[in-house]
Amino acid sequence: MSTVDEKSHVALVTGASRGIGRGIALEIARAGYDVAVNYASNRQAAVEVCAEIETLGRRAVPVGGNIGDATDRTRILDETTSKLGPISLLVNNAGIAPRVRADILDATEESFDDVVGTNLRGPYFLTQQCARRMLEWKRASDIKRARIVFITSMSAYTASTNRGDYCISKAGLSMAVKLFAARLAADGIGVYEIQPGIIRTDMTAKVTEKYDRLINDDGILPVPRWGTPEDVGLAVRAVAEGRFDYSTGIVIPVDGGFHLRVL
Ligand code: NAP
Repeated sequence: MSTVDEKSHVALVTGASRGIGRGIALEIARAGYDVAVNYASNRQAAVEVCAEIETLGRRAVPVGGNIGDATDRTRILDETTSKLGPISLLVNNAGIAPRVRADILDATEESFDDVVGTNLRGPYFLTQQCARRMLEWKRASDIKRARIVFITSMSAYTASTNRGDYCISKAGLSMAVKLFAARLAADGIGVYEIQPGIIRTDMTAKVTEKYDRLINDDGILPVPRWGTPEDVGLAVRAVAEGRFDYSTGIVIPVDGGFHLRVL
């Protein structure tokens, strides 16, 4: 794939053992990337994703580690680099929903720390550390250009009062995209926000009936179907292939048109 950096085609995808991260890992492997498949605890699932990537002719390694933990973040980057080489694509995908969906008047500080620590502090500081390394690799001509993708959510701008912590984590992450995009643009590192809507994964499995109703009966999505991990993977792939190199900082909704205001 000519648009993938000819010097390095190594990607780290956080939370790639299942769901959207898996969909992203497979699509960017199809675009020519070798992939570090990060996971939190589900090693077997990560190993299976790696096997799928290898059948596509690319290298893949499972890399365990909690993105909410500073020591783990360093180890994830070290392990990816030592096993595959310098990273030219970081995809910040891993994230969690609150363990309990609680009204904003009742939700706990513990849940806030858990969700914000994983969904916002984790990718923010992983990106800080990865970007520093990318700059060094660029200076040493180990990579030519680099790209960083954040998987946020339509929850970055949609108020769900039964998961305020999640919405805040995604709104904060949306600003992290703008900050890193502005800081890294002149250095040839593009930074992008992908905003998924309602995607069928384990995360949404518990609320299937609710979303079925909203999509089929209430018509909340202009494109009347669930999104898939592949839908998100294809958007990340376009970024990974360099199709948006002059568009750093953009937001790409993958949401069946949810963001449209229709009268
Ligand atoms: P999922 O099915 O629950 O999968 C989550 C993935 O993240 C798994 O691979 C999991 O690893 C990993 N993970 C969880 N916590 C982690 C941590 N602390 N460190 C490292 N990895 C961790 O979730 P999903 O639906 O694919 O969501 C992926 C991302 O998209 C999340 O950021 C989510 O907020 C966002 N998103 C999802 C939707 C949706 O409708 N599904 C919509 C908008 C945005 P293990 O397998 O080891 O547990």
